[in-house]
Amino acid sequence: METKTAKILDGKALASKIYQELSHRISELQPKIGRPPGLAVIMVGDNPASAVYVRNKEKACAKVGIASFGKHFPTQTTQTELEAVIQSLNEDERVDGILVQLPLPNHLDSVGLLHQIHPNKDADGLHPVNLGRLVRGEMGLRSCTPGGVMRLLQEYEISLRGKQAVVVGRSILVGKPLALMLLEADATVTVAHSQTKNLAAIAHDADILIAAVGRPELITAQMIKPGAVVVDVGINRITDSSGNSRLVGDVHFDSVSTVASYITPVPGGVGPMTVAMLLQNTVTSYVQRTSN
Ligand code: NAD
Repeated sequence: METKTAKILDGKALASKIYQELSHRISELQPKIGRPPGLAVIMVGDNPASAVYVRNKEKACAKVGIASFGKHFPTQTTQTELEAVIQSLNEDERVDGILVQLPLPNHLDSVGLLHQIHPNKDADGLHPVNLGRLVRGEMGLRSCTPGGVMRLLQEYEISLRGKQAVVVGRSILVGKPLALMLLEADATVTVAHSQTKNLAAIAHDADILIAAVGRPELITAQMIKPGAVVVDVGINRITDSSGNSRLVGDVHFDSVSTVASYITPVPGGVGPMTVAMLLQNTVTSYVQRTSN
């Protein structure tokens, strides 16, 4: 058996550290501001995975002292009703962050709802105004998953300046904003996607490889430059030959960790960082909204 050489980029441990920092910051700010930060998670329908995600977000909020204004609506709720809910949350002084948990039932337009959220309460950092601020290099709420990847790289002092970064995946949720954040950090960035020819050769050039695809174990050891840093955003549930279900990333962890210098596990890598960044965005918005 080959030895694993890669060090683990431990998102779970860093998320706990961020929770402690946020908790400390909130306990200092709350007496001055007179209220805790508030986050409203809107969920529609009964998707079981979404229910778990929402519960985890609310638990994390409780842990650091963020008040939850979560609302759960039945599947048949209309677009107009949800727009009215978002408007009232936009006007609610106790609420600093609003997000709509995806996926939504088919009759609803998720982008239309996202546009209704006030950009300064856009805890997910996905509103066009915040994505525009990212493109322009202006301050703003940054998307949580790519923001979490950047924070993890920063924590382990992985230098990006002048490095070749390859992002596999070009979604508006992960790949595109992440490519912009890496550019902002002075990396030379290539974005690969489903139409890319010769992914293996492009991936092999990467000093930093980030996979955000949604294909179980697509990235194998042969595609990795020795010593590269590998970040796995993918979360895929697979059933193995003995019928057991488990989570795997987009990276073949066992083989890649014999070649890479650093690697994120799945679970326990980028996933916990996404929630930590959501809470951090809520606190950033709380500070900004109460200091004007
Ligand atoms: P998506 O389906 O919106 O986008 C996938 C991207 O991968 C597309 O840009 C597509 O062009 C590209 N792609 C598809 N097949 C490819 C191939 N064979 N080669 C190269 N590129 C290919 O997905 P998403 O929302 O960006 O999510 C990607 C993965 O990340 C999923 O597994 C998702 O569950 C996971 N995810 C994890 C977190 C987290 O917190 N860890 C957050 C968001 C998404």
